[in-house]
Amino acid sequence: ATPALSHIGLAGLAVMGQNLALNIAEKGFPISVYNRTASKVDETHHRAQTEGGLPLTPHYTPRDFVLSIQRPRSIIILVKAGSPVDQTIAAFSSFMEPGDSIIDGGNEWYLNTERRIEQASMQGLLYLGMGVSGGEEGARYGPSLMPGGSYQAYSNVQNILQRVAAQVDDGPCVTYIGEGGSGNFVKMVHNGIEYGDMQLISEAYDVLKNIGGLSNSELADIFAEWNRGELESFLVEITADIFRVKDEFGEGELVDKVLDKTGMKGTGKWTVQQAAELSIAAPTIAASLDGRYMSGLKEERESAAAALREAGLKEDEQLGGVKKGIDKKRLIDDVRQALYASKICSYAQGMNLLRAKSVEKGWDLNLGELARIWKGGCIIRAVFLDRIKKAYKRNPNLASLVVDPEFAREMVQRQAAWRRVVGLAVSAGISTPGMCASLSYFDTYRRARLPANLVQAQRDLFGAHTYERIDRPGSFHTEWTKLA
Ligand code: NAP
Repeated sequence: ATPALSHIGLAGLAVMGQNLALNIAEKGFPISVYNRTASKVDETHHRAQTEGGLPLTPHYTPRDFVLSIQRPRSIIILVKAGSPVDQTIAAFSSFMEPGDSIIDGGNEWYLNTERRIEQASMQGLLYLGMGVSGGEEGARYGPSLMPGGSYQAYSNVQNILQRVAAQVDDGPCVTYIGEGGSGNFVKMVHNGIEYGDMQLISEAYDVLKNIGGLSNSELADIFAEWNRGELESFLVEITADIFRVKDEFGEGELVDKVLDKTGMKGTGKWTVQQAAELSIAAPTIAASLDGRYMSGLKEERESAAAALREAGLKEDEQLGGVKKGIDKKRLIDDVRQALYASKICSYAQGMNLLRAKSVEKGWDLNLGELARIWKGGCIIRAVFLDRIKKAYKRNPNLASLVVDPEFAREMVQRQAAWRRVVGLAVSAGISTPGMCASLSYFDTYRRARLPANLVQAQRDLFGAHTYERIDRPGSFHTEWTKLA
């Protein structure tokens, strides 16, 4: 007898694909799997057997794989972004038929998805670019899924995606994002926001450690405590855990032995580039990206430290002076508030970037719904996202999260603490680029009058770019130098 056909297929069985395939099978959907290198197919099949006899069938050629799936077929691809996706599609497409769908789950550049949507449609194939967040654990036990592209393709797999996604109080962490490459774009901004959160947390750590003098064990306790309040989130939770891990090769905790040089794969850079393209200020996310670039200059930073010491900089005295008058308890509470207020500004930037792109592309993104599907499964999952969801529910046209009545009140309540932390850090010579960027964003946005009048005057003086006046309509030019 011919074997029963699978409900869905998944190709690309590295960390993400393997775990997502097992997740789908565990939810009771028979799945076919394929990988270019056969050993990963065997490995996945073996895991399916040992993790409870899950309904997963291994396939070793593109033809067998594609033909093992019931029509209309849905095939999820989780290979390296870029040309491997094109190569994988090319290997499958000759066996696929009109009405079948390709779902790319990788961190793909959204324009590649838009190009592939066009190519697929010439063959009558449907296409989704689906952001997947949550790493290995998320893929296996419930990721946040951001599918964009063909609505029909989404409808075909909606019941599967809703079962495999992370589940939170108000539903599964998946929704149809919008047309074109919107799913990839939203995932990209999610990653940019993730950069911001990580940078801000690392600054809180830096201030508490170097100004507050907190030990790793105190830091672990503080982050664990913060994780029971308004900052409750995956990243704060894992931060607490990190401080407790001992170094297996020597004394003390492992975190102190980790080289201070960050890696990155490009989604943060894309987010900042897109913000610039769309004239959206995203200073906190940009500061996080710059923070990663500067961390990479380890040797240069070591030389700079020596050169400036040689030039007379007394870092210890600078820091020592600030540390002297510190009330540790109050500093901890201030840093918590500074972190929270800075985070609101960072999310405001990410959300405004999404809105600007949505307007440009006609995607009609639902920002509140995006906050909702980030509540579970993904790296930025946090209790706080429910508040963002509600802010956009109160007012879908909210100009910025900063002016939502609830967030506005919270920021005003926290601003004194926020300014104290940034002020202390500046005096102590501890760089807090993310917190500073957020605070400047807040202060720039809330000021009805900025010194941009002077910039306009300068532009008019040297380039006759003209200016407007505050007291009468029209465009003006002045011969400034003649009148000076
Ligand atoms: P990965 O390391 O990005 O990619 C490895 C997979 O790609 C393997 O299955 C490999 O097949 C396949 N591959 C590479 N080049 C290929 C080619 N030319 N033709 C066919 N297959 C090719 O795997 P991953 O970490 O699981 O990530 C998959 C995707 O999800 C990526 O886009 C990644 O950015 C995204 N993502 C990853 C995470 C994460 O935490 N890792 C989280 C979210 C999203 P072989 O075994 O034959 O080499």
